[in-house]
Amino acid sequence: MPARVSEAFVLQTYPLKESDLIVSFFTRDAGKLRGVAKRARRQKNGFGSGLERLSQVRMAYFERENRELVNLDSCDLVQSQFGVLSDYAAGISLDYLAEISEQILPAHEPNDKFFRLITSVLEHIRAGSPGAVWRGVTYFTLWAVKLAGMLPELHVCLSCGVSLDEEGERAFFRRGAHGLMCMDCKRTLSGRDAWELSRESRTLASQILRLPVGALDAAWTRETAADLRRFLQQQIESHIERRLLTVSVLEAA
Ligand SMILES: [Zn+2]
Repeated sequence: MPARVSEAFVLQTYPLKESDLIVSFFTRDAGKLRGVAKRARRQKNGFGSGLERLSQVRMAYFERENRELVNLDSCDLVQSQFGVLSDYAAGISLDYLAEISEQILPAHEPNDKFFRLITSVLEHIRAGSPGAVWRGVTYFTLWAVKLAGMLPELHVCLSCGVSLDEEGERAFFRRGAHGLMCMDCKRTLSGRDAWELSRESRTLASQILRLPVGALDAAWTRETAADLRRFLQQQIESHIERRLLTVSVLEAA
């Protein structure tokens, strides 16, 4: 079978045998794939620095009939993310983007919107304006959850149906519970930790769903919409039934 060439982002790599790597990569035209890169851990190989996480590459590979793993042939680097590595938080944000993509993207399902999401968020983080990491990761988290079909209704209490947009209504969430709840339902269902999703963060969420990442208000810090990220991270963790490893590192950056 001839080599196929796909535009792709490298998500994760794992060592295999003495000198090989298993590479998980997200292609524009064929979705998330896994392949074996032979001799990729030797000095001379056909991959260069293209297998760093979130490198944007043109990946050449052979598909094998009835095999889950493809054979990677070589790759051309289109865009590396080396430029951001001098900034600690930006470096961690790459791990975070890669982990969420790896965990929520199903194999073999093309998702052009998700591909464009990664592209635009990485561009934004690379440009490096103040607050870019926090705008980038928050924008990415909300859209990743939405594109994966996991985003609950953000305007009503999912327990009693009351509108959370009414003046003075507060919104809460708990680990393991889908969506948001009102103050009354939070009281009734007490006994476990609940966090508030502030009105400011709910307003930012609607902006994120309407605007490109570069059009968000500039004055973002780590604290901006941290409650929204926590809410979304918990929604992802309930869905994948495990904890995201990069969250605590990112939120402490
Ligand atoms: Zn309620």
